[in-house]
Amino acid sequence: MDSADHHSGFVAFIGRPNVGKSTLVNQLVGKKVAITSPVAQTTRNRLRAILTTPEAQIVLVDTPGIHKPHHLLGERLVKSARAAIGEVDLVLLLLEGCEPPGRGDAFIVDLLRQQKLPVLVALNKWDCVAEQHQDQAEEAYRELLADAPWPLLRCSATNGEGCTELLDTLVERLPLGPQLYPPEMVSDQPERVLLAELIREQVLLHTREEVPHSVAVSIDRIEEMPAPRGRSGGKERTAVLATVLVERKSQKGILIGKGGSMLKTIGQGARLQMQTLIDGPVYLELFVKVVPDWRSKPARLAELGYGSN
Ligand code: GDP
Ligand code: MG
Repeated sequence: MDSADHHSGFVAFIGRPNVGKSTLVNQLVGKKVAITSPVAQTTRNRLRAILTTPEAQIVLVDTPGIHKPHHLLGERLVKSARAAIGEVDLVLLLLEGCEPPGRGDAFIVDLLRQQKLPVLVALNKWDCVAEQHQDQAEEAYRELLADAPWPLLRCSATNGEGCTELLDTLVERLPLGPQLYPPEMVSDQPERVLLAELIREQVLLHTREEVPHSVAVSIDRIEEMPAPRGRSGGKERTAVLATVLVERKSQKGILIGKGGSMLKTIGQGARLQMQTLIDGPVYLELFVKVVPDWRSKPARLAELGYGSN
């Protein structure tokens, strides 16, 4: 791509937990590269998703939501979101259109005002705002942004409404430049991280309360297995061995479930998602292990990829 008007660059997706940052990344890229869930703090790693169009290549930096830290893991999440702001050409500030602005939003707006970066604001979840409340909802957010010279758009990350316009506006504001990654690349994360995240997503979907935040997943082995013998056209299978870490014995019990039923549900859900990602059959084996207090242990955090940088 050597066209003189090709744009490229990095966009950080910033916003409170649960506003839909990861859902929007997937919607724009058209593939599931970031896991999402109704539980706040789903995203733990900074993830770069890559979107290549004829006019531009945009690297979308999905960040953990900015919030007040409560323990070591929380602190690292906030640090990583702040660091992302320092590395990008543009910030997309995502706000929750269907809720009034809160103190968390004001905190982020202040943080962004102190930077010199161009900012684009999108009111997400617009599908949830009743038509008669739309003007009022937008007005409340315009007040929050006050005199900041940032364009304000509306979108829905789940049904795609407003996303084409959002993408065009992003591209216009990116610097001119060549492709930075091969066009077929959709994420900068190694396969094992994407696979581990798909397992964690199923845990978040199927468990409640104290379990979700206490869970980490490590992929122990990925192996290509030959196609079953005697079947022509049989495809190679990918075997994935993974361990789900929890902090307490009671959580291990919940994850395994009666007669192993919960672990089976989680495994089946994850396996289906993995097959779509890998584009071939997957054999998945899951183990559950108790590591008391892993979230507060720097060595464990580093091992699991939640490093200090
Ligand atoms: P993040 O923490 O900002 O990354 O938020 P997620 O992408 O994980 O989304 C949090 C929740 O909001 C999930 O249950 C999503 O399905 C939901 N969600 C995200 N975007 C939209 C949207 O545009 N409309 C609606 N109705 N729900 C959304
Ligand atoms: Mg997220």
